[in-house]
Amino acid sequence: MGPPLPLRFVLSVDDAGDLPDTRAEVAVVGRSNVGKSSLINALAGRHDLARVSKTPGRTRLLNCFELDGATVVDCPGYGYAQASKAARSKWQAMIDRYLLERDQLSMVVALVDGEIGPTPLDVQLLEWLRANGLPHTVVATKHDKVKSSQRGRRARELAAGCRLAASDVIWVSAAKGTGIERLRGLVMLWLS
Ligand code: GDP
Repeated sequence: MGPPLPLRFVLSVDDAGDLPDTRAEVAVVGRSNVGKSSLINALAGRHDLARVSKTPGRTRLLNCFELDGATVVDCPGYGYAQASKAARSKWQAMIDRYLLERDQLSMVVALVDGEIGPTPLDVQLLEWLRANGLPHTVVATKHDKVKSSQRGRRARELAAGCRLAASDVIWVSAAKGTGIERLRGLVMLWLS
């Protein structure tokens, strides 16, 4: 369904107002450790692309990846920052504003840990996206960590926790490649 996406790291910004001009944009959000870097690397078919988002000091920056005149924006630590309450809410408020005001934004990809999610904060984020009418897709990560005998039940449980039908959740494994080609195809579509 999709070859590796030729994503190219462009820059990191601490204010959405400094994001590059673009035709279309997909924002990726999810708490730290959800598997966001691994997923971005898997989409690009590379091992080192998203390392930039892990660099100390960059967890308060939006990381932009260019793809054929469009942009994928990695929003680290959104809603989940290990920071003071004031810093957290400031960061959160900036991203809230970005998501609400960015005209080019065609999809918010909300990552949920497939093994343990959704967490109460994941649910809160999804409710906020829904309340504001923002287009969003839930992607459940780490499919390979769920025992095959448990997968049906886990998929129903996770979807129900997200107030979605099981078929609305896209399951991926960056480790095993499950669902990656399908998600590449969707990203291309959202950016077209
Ligand atoms: P981030 O903080 O959201 O960028 O998360 P990372 O991509 O760094 O992943 C967090 C941890 O989960 C790391 O130890 C990864 O190796 C692990 N991880 C990420 N994706 C997968 C996956 O698809 N399968 C498994 N088994 N582990 C994963």
